[in-house]
Amino acid sequence: MTYTGITLALSKGRIFEETLPLLAAAGITPTENPESSRKLIIGTNRADVRLIIVRASDVPTYVQYGAADLGIAGKDVLNEHGGNGLYQPLDLQIACCRMMVAVREGYDYAGTVKQGARIRVATKYVNAAREHFAGKGVHIDLIKLYGSMELAPLVGLSDVIVDLVSTGGTLKANGLVAVEHISDISSRLIVNQAALKLKRSLIQPVIDGFSSAVGTRGAA
Ligand code: ATP
Ligand code: MG
Repeated sequence: MTYTGITLALSKGRIFEETLPLLAAAGITPTENPESSRKLIIGTNRADVRLIIVRASDVPTYVQYGAADLGIAGKDVLNEHGGNGLYQPLDLQIACCRMMVAVREGYDYAGTVKQGARIRVATKYVNAAREHFAGKGVHIDLIKLYGSMELAPLVGLSDVIVDLVSTGGTLKANGLVAVEHISDISSRLIVNQAALKLKRSLIQPVIDGFSSAVGTRGAA
């Protein structure tokens, strides 16, 4: 609790991997790899910057309460969280994918929608799903899941799923097809608003470093 530097909340896996070049652009190098280390608090080459490793969906919570000053979270996660009290200065253009509606091959999605029948939707992204189908005027029964959504239509838990798709390989491997695009997803830098005021001299250079790295990559 006596730490006077800044704390950045990240999740393991693709977000950590894709954040490394952004950290490098801000002059920050982690001293350990969270994939091989079991540590949840990871130091860096800078005594005044540390990383914490949390579940992707917990990142906004740590930043909202100020337990982390900054974080990196997918737009999907921020949508579900609500983003209350979070400053979102940058789209980092990492962990890019699309939120889609998918069904079993052969399922007549268009026909079902046209008939006005209720549709059972299984998803981790209940806010996004509710908003999407309400916008189309389609009545749904929402079934909240925490992962492996692809299974739901195969065993009759739901008619459709709302899930993130990048290559479509997982859908294909399970005999599913994407039938509707809901939104494009990428990860955002999020900042605790009080921390930004109190620790601006430490936080602003990180925002600027990330920003220049995103700009450079976009131009390349
Ligand atoms: P957890 O594994 O803790 O349940 P998660 O599956 O959301 O959480 P990750 O798989 O690391 O965690 O995904 C982190 C973020 O990466 C997601 O919030 C999303 O924004 C993005 N993402 C998810 N799936 C893909 C994908 N297939 N391709 C690219 N980006 C993705
Ligand atoms: Mg995942």
